[in-house]
Amino acid sequence: TKASAAEPNYVISTDATYAPFDFQDKNNEYVGIDQDILKEVAKRNHFTYTLKPMSFNAAAQMVANGQADGIIAGMAITDERKQVYDVSDPYYKTGVAWITKKGSKIKSLSELKGKTVALKSGTAASNYGLSLQKKYGFKVKYFNDTDTMYNDVVNGNSAATFEDMPVIQYAIKNGLDLEVKNPNNPGNAGGYGFFVKKGQNPQLIADFNKTLKEMKADGSYQKIVDKYLKSDQ
Ligand code: GLN
Repeated sequence: TKASAAEPNYVISTDATYAPFDFQDKNNEYVGIDQDILKEVAKRNHFTYTLKPMSFNAAAQMVANGQADGIIAGMAITDERKQVYDVSDPYYKTGVAWITKKGSKIKSLSELKGKTVALKSGTAASNYGLSLQKKYGFKVKYFNDTDTMYNDVVNGNSAATFEDMPVIQYAIKNGLDLEVKNPNNPGNAGGYGFFVKKGQNPQLIADFNKTLKEMKADGSYQKIVDKYLKSDQ
């Protein structure tokens, strides 16, 4: 559909690499569970949007600063964020995993004492990691994107990392040489939401929530999730 004067155009920021929620396919198109849901919300509510993919931290800042109207980026709903943003209903369950290299002898968080843990700037998982730092005595090192952070553990520079359960599980399923230590016990369990700056763009939140409900009822939500997670490749 082509944009018309009657259709608002929103600026939406996202994380450039956060599979299976946000990533580029082989044609460099932005795809993923988030991107497919967003596309459907726009279609059903007759708006267009300009997507701004970047680091998660910068994407979240853009909305907080009023430079973007909304963000969808596998972003967890937290009390802290509710001070700064208004948020949709949760659209996907998440929680924090702690992760080592596959086959690592490290079995408990206390074995991370004095070692380096890789964290991604501005994320809920990094806050969770930081909340354990004093108790377990590890050092932290920051990264702007998930793939570089994972690589630091794969190549042995960092002993462990913290990332969201659905994101690390997808990466491992796709061949990443890492292992989740708490598969049945995620930290800070919660959900992902679509965020706008507090007090701004209430229509976007209303549109998102209405369409999410419809998509859950008509099967299109499950179809999107299955498209990314139920691959038999
Ligand atoms: N899920 C994490 C958060 O909510 C990280 C999001 C991301 O890195 N795209 O902070």
